[in-house]
Amino acid sequence: QDPAARRPIRDLPDELISQIAAGEVVERPASVVRELLDNALDAGATQVTVRLSAGGVRLILVEDDGLGIPREDLPVALRRHATSKIASLQDLEAVGTMGFRGEALAAINSIADMSLLSRTLDTDHAWQLDGRTGEIKPASRARGTSVEVRELFYATPARRKFLKTDATELAHCIDAVRRHALVRPDVGFAIWHEGKLVEQWRACSGALASAHSLPHHDQRLADVLGAEFVEQSIAVHYESSARRADGRPAVRVWGRAGIPDAARARADQQFAYVNGRYVRDKVLTHAARSAYEDVLHGQRQPVYALYVEIDPARIDVNVHPTKIEVRFRDSREVHQAVRHATEDALAAPRAGAALADKP
Ligand code: ADP
Ligand code: MG
Repeated sequence: QDPAARRPIRDLPDELISQIAAGEVVERPASVVRELLDNALDAGATQVTVRLSAGGVRLILVEDDGLGIPREDLPVALRRHATSKIASLQDLEAVGTMGFRGEALAAINSIADMSLLSRTLDTDHAWQLDGRTGEIKPASRARGTSVEVRELFYATPARRKFLKTDATELAHCIDAVRRHALVRPDVGFAIWHEGKLVEQWRACSGALASAHSLPHHDQRLADVLGAEFVEQSIAVHYESSARRADGRPAVRVWGRAGIPDAARARADQQFAYVNGRYVRDKVLTHAARSAYEDVLHGQRQPVYALYVEIDPARIDVNVHPTKIEVRFRDSREVHQAVRHATEDALAAPRAGAALADKP
């Protein structure tokens, strides 16, 4: 075919559009786990169980005890750009849910065998939708939703070739759950692989997500990252002097920053969140790193879990389909907040004491 030859412009078939979108959202099994966890948390789940087989390539099953999906909405949930989370541009600008693009389930359904099994509070049994055939039949389950994803990338073998070993894919899946667990101590998480329990983080009782009470949060940090993470870190508390319209600080930063001695060779314990969403962001990484400028030398990587709370109107989360990146309206403001927050923590008397304690 002559590439210069003029060919007619055509709409792509729906299925292909979804598969192209899936290329952006779903890189590997862990991407599916992340999307399904986002959905479970958006549905108000208090317990989420992830069951995997062959590193998630053969099977990903995510079960939650959230609000469920009514029977008539099951097929809609699989449609592209169908969401219950926003309805207008105003909603988008103040979005508080993890999801809002209405893309994930449609994308996953186009590259895997998927089924949705769900029950809402007002029905006496569950319904199951087969993603391939669209068939809906009665099923049984307590309130909540189970999403089953089998044979990921069966339709896109090129993608499948890029997958690593089952062990590596499993590790990425566990990472995805860990990132959610670190910001939701009020939710219990369990991960099973080939029928064996691999990780379990119990809900820290009484921990209200909005209260962010540090003891509960510390408990979760210790459960997920190890007791030494908490022992060798200092609590971070910072509020900008600028205020939102409702009087709350424009930027708040809290969490824990590791003492310099806790630094590691790899940057594998650096967790940053913006409004409850795990992000990988140059501004935040740079700000945290610069707080260690004078106390950490060479290539050693600080450890931290930092939670930034900012007026949603000051950020744009709609930058990338996976929402792992955010755009700050005023990135200097955020950089300073994170840097000061971390520096203040490192300069606190306890940080000095912790340093002096070291043999
Ligand atoms: P988004 O999360 O961006 O809305 P998704 O494709 O991930 O898009 O999900 C589509 C819709 O399906 C959601 O808006 C929600 O109404 C429903 N849904 C998906 N997963 C769950 C779940 N675990 N519990 C309840 N509802 C769900
Ligand atoms: Mg979603």
